[in-house]
Amino acid sequence: MDILLFSVGLGMLIVAERMPRLRFQRLPLVRPFFVSDLFYLATGAILLSVVMRAQAVPWAGLFGEGIQRTLTAAPFVLTVGLAIILHDLGGYGSHILLHRIDALWALHKVHHSSLTLDWLATFRAHILEHALRHFLSPVLLILLGFPLAAVGIASVVLGIWSALVHANPHGAWHWLEPLLITPRLHRLHHVPATSERNLGVFLSVWDRLRGTLETSPTALLQPTSVPGAVETYPQTWPRQFLEPFARKPKCEKRT
Ligand SMILES: [Zn+2]
Ligand SMILES: [Zn+2]
Repeated sequence: MDILLFSVGLGMLIVAERMPRLRFQRLPLVRPFFVSDLFYLATGAILLSVVMRAQAVPWAGLFGEGIQRTLTAAPFVLTVGLAIILHDLGGYGSHILLHRIDALWALHKVHHSSLTLDWLATFRAHILEHALRHFLSPVLLILLGFPLAAVGIASVVLGIWSALVHANPHGAWHWLEPLLITPRLHRLHHVPATSERNLGVFLSVWDRLRGTLETSPTALLQPTSVPGAVETYPQTWPRQFLEPFARKPKCEKRT
């Protein structure tokens, strides 16, 4: 059911992105590396997510029946709200690890390698990064005892929002920024000079608390890519799969 909701939401976003009035930049729908990014969507974002969640279901409520009973008895809307907040926090935590630990940063460079941002760039990430993010958010929520329906809705909301912040929309989003990450804020995360800022995807509160929220409008038209490898990071799926394991000289600059 949540795959269907996710597909409908994504379809609406793809249509909206094609409307000239709503676009930030003119971009073709089918652009270089479209097929490899579709492969990332099918394998990392959908297939791996379904498999990992299915594996977690028999372990639901692992952290105690009391927590599971409380979550099941609470009003569903509250459970969904809490699931969204914790899901987003798990995603934020995994994003910090991906930027702080060298081996994980090598994986995360794949996500930062998109030369243009659109709805499909959302899903470009090494399969091991997808695994980490799926574990630290939806799988942990299931193990905590959150109802599967609540975890599913939270995953759809955050999945669609994540696609929105990577998409190419033009608009006055500033009024949302006290609470939420907007497309322009996430674009700043993909600009090499500010790639250590705006690590949030949905709530902006995590970056606010850490003092890492970047709201400057000046970098919006700068190229997006891997810091220190803007021209050179490989763009094909097989090379990106292997690149994190290649031997590299130490102390590469990240900004
Ligand atoms: Zn990042
Ligand atoms: Zn991104």
